[in-house]
Amino acid sequence: MTSKALQEFLIENLNELKGKGLYNTIEPLEGANGPVITINGKVLINLSSNNYLGLATDSRLKEAAIKAIGTYGVGAGAVRTINGTFDLHLELEEKLADFKQTEAAIAYQSGFNCNMAAISAVMDQQDAILSDELNHASIIDGCRLSKAKVITFAHSNMQDLRAKAQQAISSGKYKKIMVITDGVFSMDGDLARLPEIVNIAEELGLITYVDDAHGSGVLGDGAGTVKHFGLSDRIDFQIGTLSKAIGVVGGYVAGKRELIEWLKVRSRPFLFSTSLTPADVAASIRAIELLGKSTELNKQLWENADYLKAGLSKLGFNIGASETPITPCIIGNETLTQAFSRRLYEEGVYAKSIVFPTVPKGTGRVRNMPTAAHTKKMVDEALAVYEKVGKEFGII
Ligand code: PMP
Repeated sequence: MTSKALQEFLIENLNELKGKGLYNTIEPLEGANGPVITINGKVLINLSSNNYLGLATDSRLKEAAIKAIGTYGVGAGAVRTINGTFDLHLELEEKLADFKQTEAAIAYQSGFNCNMAAISAVMDQQDAILSDELNHASIIDGCRLSKAKVITFAHSNMQDLRAKAQQAISSGKYKKIMVITDGVFSMDGDLARLPEIVNIAEELGLITYVDDAHGSGVLGDGAGTVKHFGLSDRIDFQIGTLSKAIGVVGGYVAGKRELIEWLKVRSRPFLFSTSLTPADVAASIRAIELLGKSTELNKQLWENADYLKAGLSKLGFNIGASETPITPCIIGNETLTQAFSRRLYEEGVYAKSIVFPTVPKGTGRVRNMPTAAHTKKMVDEALAVYEKVGKEFGII
């Protein structure tokens, strides 16, 4: 028998979400998550995946995954520290360290998991964390899990960061203080002000932690935001995901040898959750090899992104202050934004609406994520739909 209290809680809260229009229905894809997707038999130009380089459907990655399944099977069979570490996992970690120009790296089962693991393995109740107010949910949860005092600073506001860091130091209450930021902020596509953050951190003795989930494979010729700013040896934690530009699944920390050694003996998802599957690892290795050999996909991504951005701006849409391929189309009103996204869908473009509470009230947007796999023809078709729907709504 189910608990009455639980049932009441669930029904009340589900109804509240539905009443407020915040209930997210999931529409399954009938096939791969490529530049074109099929939902309910409807073929759509896909502007909503994180598959920046198109690698999720790349034949070279598929071959590597299939080969690994043939050799190792489909599951790792254990956590990393029992006997779930294959030679493949170590090869991936070496490749990740090279890719990020650090001494070592450790792989986790997801980027989310990685933030939960890494923050709580080094920070505790005697410490403080300065966290950008727009940091990703997994950073927020990782900070909470650590039990450190979390002090948020205004988004990319260096004066606020400095003032709060100085306050934390002069309080004398904390043993270690960390500053933590996304490398690329996923709702607006803006970059963290890493050179300034690093200068403040070095001056005040702060630990630096950058989650570059959306920058890896995208900025710095693919190596990420830290490389883009030339700061590779000045950041303590470089976090990445294997699920976006790399096209597979998994997360990682790249950093100094002792840091990685500590995470391998102390971070809980590494110790207590079965390791990445052989197929995921082999496909990720292949992706990193490809990125190391050529910047062609990266160039194609930026070409497509620049083309889409220029097209939307020319049509008169507000695309915000993005510095990356993430291209918001800021509409404002929440209901209007959702209706706009639905009309795009009806006309054959899949671009998800993002509204409050994910972004501030009144800044509802449709977010576009162009990839290297889109053709110019697809982008032109998407722009034609934007023009039609934009005029229909009186937005342009
Ligand atoms: N960090 C950031 C900044 C992200 O945007 C995401 C993905 N939404 C994650 C971590 C989580 O990564 P993953 O999907 O690999 O769990």
